[in-house]
Amino acid sequence: MIGTLALLLMAQAQQWPQHSMDRPRPPVVDPGPERPPAPAPKDAIVLFDGSNLSQWRAQDSTAAKWIVKDGYVEVKPGTGMLVSARGFGDVQLHIEWRTPTPAQGEGQERGNSGVFLMGIYELQVLDSYQNDTYPDGQAGAIYGENPPLVNATRPPGQWQAYDIIFHRPHFKTDGSLERPARMTVFLNGILIQDNFELVGPTANKARPPYSAHPDKLPLKLQDHGNPIRYRNIWIRELE
Ligand code: MG
Repeated sequence: MIGTLALLLMAQAQQWPQHSMDRPRPPVVDPGPERPPAPAPKDAIVLFDGSNLSQWRAQDSTAAKWIVKDGYVEVKPGTGMLVSARGFGDVQLHIEWRTPTPAQGEGQERGNSGVFLMGIYELQVLDSYQNDTYPDGQAGAIYGENPPLVNATRPPGQWQAYDIIFHRPHFKTDGSLERPARMTVFLNGILIQDNFELVGPTANKARPPYSAHPDKLPLKLQDHGNPIRYRNIWIRELE
């Protein structure tokens, strides 16, 4: 059932057609040189410290298939998403990522991956350094819903960091939406999503409505066929 709140959110999101190439591009802001890994706070759950994938599984719950090397984990194309063993709801998440160099492909085919909060709500990972695409699909976009405030990406081959504050959606007992999910994101220390209320699950060429789900679900990282690297992944539970 689609409630009034869900319809209102969907109407707001229609100001620009989804994936519109006419939409203004977010201003470019140079975030400066890459930084060393940010230390995990003492109360954080370390999901990846560079050594192993003990906190992760493949989508079919078998052992994780991505490649661990030299302190990072790299997408192994064709093996599917990397799924956290634990479920999470409201969180602060830190995750560092690096797109391949030399850059290959154009638009959505250049360095595509994604951080899926609760496995449902995608914060886009893409090589958006001098690589044009639809703004609601560039790096830092809530995919298909909201472009980043600015483009604060570094060139491919350099490490970048997302700091994400995510609040899960709440559902009434009848399954209708009580309050939407919200996301605040910093890319390389620069605010790119400011408490954005998600319209629903993120999707390509679709705006599916919210559908009631558990309060905690695994975090997922996307295999989009490109060898993106991740490192230094830690999370703090906020509820
Ligand atoms: Mg993606």
